[in-house]
Amino acid sequence: MSVYYLNLTPKYEEGIMHYEVHEENCEWLSEVKDCEELGDFRNCHGAIKEAKQRYPKWKIDGCKYCSPECHNL
Ligand SMILES: [Zn+2]
Repeated sequence: MSVYYLNLTPKYEEGIMHYEVHEENCEWLSEVKDCEELGDFRNCHGAIKEAKQRYPKWKIDGCKYCSPECHNL
């Protein structure tokens, strides 16, 4: 299990505004200024589901470095 975090600062990739989910050990997490703890999950899929429940209107994507299997953009 790992703790996952949601970066509350939106990112733009291919012109699409979205919010990224990071795993606790991700090296990019240190660059994230404002994030929210999503909780403990076995993988990024559970973390993304939780983030979507909290922010149903946001486009949520997995970080391409720590959660490549949830990176869709
Ligand atoms: Zn990451």
